[in-house]
Amino acid sequence: MQIEFDLRVSGEEHADPYLDPSDVEMLFNATRADLRPAIERKLAGVRCAEHGAEPMVRVVVSYDREAEQMDVVYTVEACCQPFLLRVVQILHHIG
Ligand SMILES: [Zn+2]
Repeated sequence: MQIEFDLRVSGEEHADPYLDPSDVEMLFNATRADLRPAIERKLAGVRCAEHGAEPMVRVVVSYDREAEQMDVVYTVEACCQPFLLRVVQILHHIG
């Protein structure tokens, strides 16, 4: 399976931010290090029953400097709708 991470920073930085840029980078790296094996475990051997294809997962991790909040959004690409729904369901169970 293919997993891609997209790390984004948005918003205006506060004058005295809770997390400075190196903290944000550390947080991104830690999030990626946590999520990648979790996703790999969840989707190990998961293939479309009809087409035999593996899913592609894109994880967008974004940090809003204004709200000082991190958000994680999963996007799944799959060969067909039924398999897409199955993969999304599996991913929903990642804690
Ligand atoms: Zn399929």
